[in-house]
Amino acid sequence: MTTDPLPTAPKTGIRVIVVGTGFGGLSAAIECHRQGHTVTVLEKFPVRKELGDIISFGQNASRIFRRWPGVASKIEPLSHRANSLQIKTCDGHHLLTQRWEEENKKWGKRYDGHRGELHGVMLAHAEQDLGIDIRLGHRVVQYYETAEGAAVDVEITNEAGQKDTKRIEGDVVLAADGVRSLGRTLVLGHEDKPLASGYAVYRAWFDGSAIANDPLTSFFYDNPDGDQHICWIGPDVHFIAASLKKGSFSWVCTHKDVADIDESWQLEAPVADARKVLVGWDPVVQRILDLTPEPLIDWKLVYRDPLPTWTSPLRRIALLGDAAHPFLPTSIQGASQAVEDGVTLGVALKKCGSPANVQEAIAAFECLRYERVRAAQKTGETTRDTWHQADMEAIKANPESMRLRREAWVLGHDAEAYAEEHYDATVAVLRRTGLQDLTEARKLNVPDMSDTVRVSNE
Ligand SMILES: Cc1cc2nc3c(=O)[nH]c(=O)nc-3n(C[C@H](O)[C@H](O)[C@H](O)COP(=O)(O)OP(=O)(O)OC[C@H]3O[C@@H](n4cnc5c(N)ncnc54)[C@H](O)[C@@H]3O)c2cc1C
Repeated sequence: MTTDPLPTAPKTGIRVIVVGTGFGGLSAAIECHRQGHTVTVLEKFPVRKELGDIISFGQNASRIFRRWPGVASKIEPLSHRANSLQIKTCDGHHLLTQRWEEENKKWGKRYDGHRGELHGVMLAHAEQDLGIDIRLGHRVVQYYETAEGAAVDVEITNEAGQKDTKRIEGDVVLAADGVRSLGRTLVLGHEDKPLASGYAVYRAWFDGSAIANDPLTSFFYDNPDGDQHICWIGPDVHFIAASLKKGSFSWVCTHKDVADIDESWQLEAPVADARKVLVGWDPVVQRILDLTPEPLIDWKLVYRDPLPTWTSPLRRIALLGDAAHPFLPTSIQGASQAVEDGVTLGVALKKCGSPANVQEAIAAFECLRYERVRAAQKTGETTRDTWHQADMEAIKANPESMRLRREAWVLGHDAEAYAEEHYDATVAVLRRTGLQDLTEARKLNVPDMSDTVRVSNE
């Protein structure tokens, strides 16, 4: 297994266009650069903003970050430092404390932190340390592919707000353009709108001084071992709160929501809306709400049935990250799987050897990833269904049933080593069955889910 930074890889001559600078797009850009490809990144936002709140990376992603020189040492001080997750019922009854030492020892550290801050570290690494060509204010409005190459049309907005359009050509296009992906339309041949999952998340991130100074909630900051992380479980609702030593406080509350997401899926809401779904809950939860500044983010969870494919008919355009496979937050894997996609694409394009073979690499990427991602998505459904069951007495009688599953096949996975090891066998099947039918080559890469480790309890 590689854990050292790659020595400068020889140039492959493969021109990669990446659409989007989320964690998926940036990982693909960094990993493609690292593997010797020539990368251009296009992002519709004209300026970078520190958007979002808490985001989690499992050990399967943090082991990738540690290969990027200087990145882990910048992320670590920004990260949440809890050594356990406490799980309680909504009335405050302690069910279990799930400790992290054992899994950290086994798989390495993981990182939870503010999305904007962690994203800033990664963007600076791509742009400043590696010199990757990242073009902000470039909105992709059309995707193209031929047997010889791929291209996008971009609408460019300059700092004065004037618009221009331009075509940018490459050997492949990696569409990391999020849940509302335009690239997906080309890959599927029709528009595929994301579906409401039936759930939404109220989210808050704020300065924790008031929490630290209130006698009911000060314990979040008094813990000498690090930060506090607590999950309260109630009928079809769960509420997770975390302190960060830097002084920030974050909470998320997942609840039923049947709103139409067609127009908007990321709204603001008053704290009073969260109170309605948390009536009668633990006084600590009520006090957190009292101390939360207005407004909340009301994040509608979009979901979709698995796409039949993530790659275009001529295998020159690949979807990755949320564009290919949005995750429920209860999987705690959405961003990590986007990072794994980027790593796999970098390796597959290197292994294919030259621009003439990139279609094989794009098909292999889908085959190396598809079954694993589907299985990881299901873990989010399982945890949500477990945590959202209504019978509090049954939960109290069997607290162990609420334990968050931490699975070796998810967290112990090394996407780079896996792609290096399995690329040739996957391509051998593709050469036999053709690039149009990926079924058999996907089956070759079904994860071994018996590899599950339960970590100790308190
Ligand atoms: C602004 C923002 C805030 C978020 N905040 C959180 C959070 O607080 N917590 C959390 O768990 N998850 C958050 N997420 C989602 C999370 O980052 C993703 O689920 C995960 O990291 C997968 O990333 P991704 O790169 O596949 O997609 P995304 O992170 O959605 O990135 C997609 C990128 O593509 C760009 N893009 C889209 N269309 C085009 C186009 N036509 N042309 C050019 N660029 C385009 C978008 O501007 C965006 O930068 C947020 C996402 C975004 C975009």
